[in-house]
Amino acid sequence: MFREVFEKYSWEDVLRDIYAKTAADVEHALNTRKRGLDDFMALISPAAAPYLEQMAQLSHRITQKRFGKTIQLYAPLYLSNECQNICTYCGFSLDNKLRRKTLTGMEMMQEVEYLKQQGFDHVLLVTGEANKTVGVDYLRNAIRMLRPHFANISIEVQPLDQEDYEQLIAEGLYAVLVYQETYHKDNYKQYHPKGKKSNFDYRLATPDRLGNAGIHKIGLGVLIGLEDWRADNFFTALHISYLERNFWQTKYSISFPRLRPAEGLIEPKVAISDKELVQLICAWRIYNEELELSISTRESALFRDHIIQLGATTISAGSRTNPGGYAVEPESLEQFSIDDDRTVAQVRDMIQHKGYKPVWKDWDRFETNQHISHAV
Ligand code: SF4
Repeated sequence: MFREVFEKYSWEDVLRDIYAKTAADVEHALNTRKRGLDDFMALISPAAAPYLEQMAQLSHRITQKRFGKTIQLYAPLYLSNECQNICTYCGFSLDNKLRRKTLTGMEMMQEVEYLKQQGFDHVLLVTGEANKTVGVDYLRNAIRMLRPHFANISIEVQPLDQEDYEQLIAEGLYAVLVYQETYHKDNYKQYHPKGKKSNFDYRLATPDRLGNAGIHKIGLGVLIGLEDWRADNFFTALHISYLERNFWQTKYSISFPRLRPAEGLIEPKVAISDKELVQLICAWRIYNEELELSISTRESALFRDHIIQLGATTISAGSRTNPGGYAVEPESLEQFSIDDDRTVAQVRDMIQHKGYKPVWKDWDRFETNQHISHAV
């Protein structure tokens, strides 16, 4: 269990070690052939800030070598805003007065029709945590209905037990995103005062359960703005390195959500500048060449246009973060406000304009298809 690894580290020690990194540590991390967690620490440290240009070039080269000039596109599909948890940073929080909505099967298909018209073949199903309305049965039915229409179905929903994941994988579930939000165990409670999500350890063990269930891909990340982003990303890297050792057949992705404004939300406690976010993304790429790095429409068009050349591999486009937001009920309350509100066609054109190829399926299947077409 990752918990055993996690408990060997203290937040304060990690923070101190990161901030003690020197220029020599950063240069070692940039020039060594095999990088470890200590190098990752150096790359995310303040000492690496003057090396940003060098990091960006290296990150660009590594990404092109591994992923080519391709950017994978996906759409989030919000199925429900019902939630039994209080999370102080989320528009769907139980204590937030808003009209709750869960899509019916027919409404789901209306949304699907819209997304298919836009060209999507990879969809991320999102719900709050409400066992009675959007529990395993609801998710199983949703995957069963959507499976014929998409090459890839991922979910970002409440953490589940291993047997639940096994059932959903049997229905065709491909990937699960489960963000720890913060690895600062003491302060985690302040952000999650009520509901199942307040159980830090259950959430922390979710990737273990997913690995045991045999999921194809796991997405991790923290919500940037809650606690020190450097320490939180170190713990994410620790988590990934544990998972890669123990579940080596599974693929991994990392996201970098920044706290965005939403109805009734807290303000970010810790700010991260655009430059620092670029540093963080480049650090991840230099540290781990295999990871998918995903950037959502929380970020601005300008930021996203640049980052696709520096290390990102996966972006969402034309997103709506409210249930029914594409076709059924475009005006319902969103989970957070998006920044890049361009249409899918505009994002696709931007990618092509930069000399990249938009990919509508997951990498693996894309690569498999390429092999097949070469072989035929
Ligand atoms: S973050 Fe998730 S669990 Fe927390 S309130 Fe929002 S939807 Fe519910």
